[in-house]
Amino acid sequence: MNKVPFVSKDQLEDICQQYPTPFHLYDEKGIRQTARDLYKAFSWNKGFKEYFAVKATPNPTILKILHEEGCGTDCSSLTELMMSEKCGITGEEIMFSSNDTPANEFKKAKELGAIINLDDITHIDFLEKEAGIPETICCRYNPGGKFELGTDIMDNPGDAKYGMTPSQIKEAYVRLKELGAKKFGIHAFLASNTVSNEYYPELARILFKLVVEIKEETGIELSFINLSGGVGIPYTPDKEPNNIFVIGEGVHKAFDEILVPAGLGNIKIFTELGRFMLAPNGCLVTRVIHEKHIHKEYIGVDACAANLMRPAIYGAYHHITVMGKENEPCDHIYDVTGSLCENSDKFAIDRKLPKIDIGDLLVIHDTGAHGFSMGYNYNGRLRSSEILLKEDGTTKMIRRAETPEDYFRTLDGFWD
Ligand SMILES: *Cc1c(COP(=O)(O)O)cnc(C)c1O
Repeated sequence: MNKVPFVSKDQLEDICQQYPTPFHLYDEKGIRQTARDLYKAFSWNKGFKEYFAVKATPNPTILKILHEEGCGTDCSSLTELMMSEKCGITGEEIMFSSNDTPANEFKKAKELGAIINLDDITHIDFLEKEAGIPETICCRYNPGGKFELGTDIMDNPGDAKYGMTPSQIKEAYVRLKELGAKKFGIHAFLASNTVSNEYYPELARILFKLVVEIKEETGIELSFINLSGGVGIPYTPDKEPNNIFVIGEGVHKAFDEILVPAGLGNIKIFTELGRFMLAPNGCLVTRVIHEKHIHKEYIGVDACAANLMRPAIYGAYHHITVMGKENEPCDHIYDVTGSLCENSDKFAIDRKLPKIDIGDLLVIHDTGAHGFSMGYNYNGRLRSSEILLKEDGTTKMIRRAETPEDYFRTLDGFWD
């Protein structure tokens, strides 16, 4: 298998005439198709809704496209709430899944009518004091231990800071009901970037059984179950991507086996996907500006880890296509680097690629989620622009690049 960019070389050279590299490019068609497939995969569930995880790609144009496809937003900070509001996405179209939450953010979420997802049992009293308990409320669950699929350990909830223990969460619903809450939901995020059609169905089974237990032990019937994020994408070209239709059917089967017989067949399923929705529908476009031959072969590009930090902080693999050289043999071994004064600023290490020349355009794949948004200003490097490739093949700048003025902006008054 190979990863093929969603633009051709000629198309990309044209785009680069208009917008200087580096930039993140997003594929509107792919974004809409991903959202439509997700809704189709869960169409068996009345009330299904995707709350797009804003932190993955906090761009108003992207949020609006997803909103047109039926998605709400999953926010976890004040500015994410504000962005959602500015996009006209408010009320129960917002899921506020935060943790270690400041009081003013609970207040803002309550004011917007967002569904508040409580990360901890102590947050009940905190929320009651700061903003009041809303009618609809969600609680985040953490079963502890390891999350396993078959013999594979997928992640380690026992080490995660999120959520409430099984006994705490039951107590939380009882207390919230006493305080006037009327509609309840449960949320859990137990493994990140899973490339397996089994993650959601297995998570669903865990939550569905718990929801039945909650009903039996407390008499409280939940209205929705939020499977959150964690459905991932293969960053390397050798793996098969998740099939959202198989995933949707897997959850459907668990629903019919566990919830329906318990008289809970009206429960709504929610998701908070970020990576799955956007990662493959965005790429980082960068141009080669230097080559360097010392103890290793280096290719220097005009983007750096400030534009995409996943390789630098997680050692994450991002596939690279040298545009126009797709069919040439990968007979060179390069480190592809940015300009930060940090040796971790490498988009690829010992990567087999075709012979690269100065001026070549590189597409760094799968940067549509947790790409631009993790950017930072180390070394005084500036964030790039974001460009949308529209369905009709034209482009639109949906965020300009930062300028030095932006970088100096917080030094108000210093120069006077
Ligand atoms: C990050 C996050 C998501 C999205 O995760 P992905 O892996 O991008 O799907 C969803 N919900 C919460 C609470 C998150 O923190």
